[in-house]
Amino acid sequence: MPAQASRPQVMHSLASSTTMKTFLGLFVGIAAAGLVLSLTVHVGALAGLPNPFGKAAWSLHLGIFIVWIPAVIVSQRMAKGAARQDMWRMALRGCPKWMKYSTYALFGYAVLSFVLFFVSTVGKKADEVEALRGFSGHWMAFYCAAMAMLYSFINTPAGEVRCVNGHTCSPLANYCEVYGQPVQKV
Ligand SMILES: [Zn+2]
Repeated sequence: MPAQASRPQVMHSLASSTTMKTFLGLFVGIAAAGLVLSLTVHVGALAGLPNPFGKAAWSLHLGIFIVWIPAVIVSQRMAKGAARQDMWRMALRGCPKWMKYSTYALFGYAVLSFVLFFVSTVGKKADEVEALRGFSGHWMAFYCAAMAMLYSFINTPAGEVRCVNGHTCSPLANYCEVYGQPVQKV
C-alpha cells in the first residue's frame, strides 16, 4: 500500500496554522448564527410580530462585540498598506462574491432602516418591536461583515502576489502594473 499517496495539498493561508483556522472558523460560525438570528428578529419586527426570543434578543447587541474584535484584528492584516478607498476590497478579497455583496447591501439597508425607524418614532417613545426593528437592521450588517472579514482571512493565501514575470503586485490587481502581464492568483 503506498504510504500517503493522496496527501492533501496544504494551502498556505494567512491563518498560518490549523489551530488558528479552527479558532477563527468558530467565530465565522458565531457570526453566521448571529446573522440568521438578527434576520429572524428583523423580519419578525417588520411583520409586527412579537419577537420569538423575548429579552434574549438584546443579547445579539452584545454578541456583535464577540465577533467584531477578531474581525477587526484580521482585517487590519488583510488591508495592511492599502489606500483608504481600497480597505474594504482588500479586507474582503478572500470571501465569495455573494458574501461581499451581501455585506455591502446590508450596510446600505441598515442606514435606510435606521432612517425609517427614526422618522417613524419621532416625537414618541419607540415600543419594543420598533426598537428591535431599528437595531436589528444594524446587527445584520455587522454580523455579515464580521463573517465575511473572518472568512476572507482564513481563505486568503499567504505570501505575495506576483505577475508571470515575478514583479510583486497588489493583491487586488489582475494585471501587472509594470508590463501588464496577468497576475498569478495562487
Ligand atoms: Zn510584471
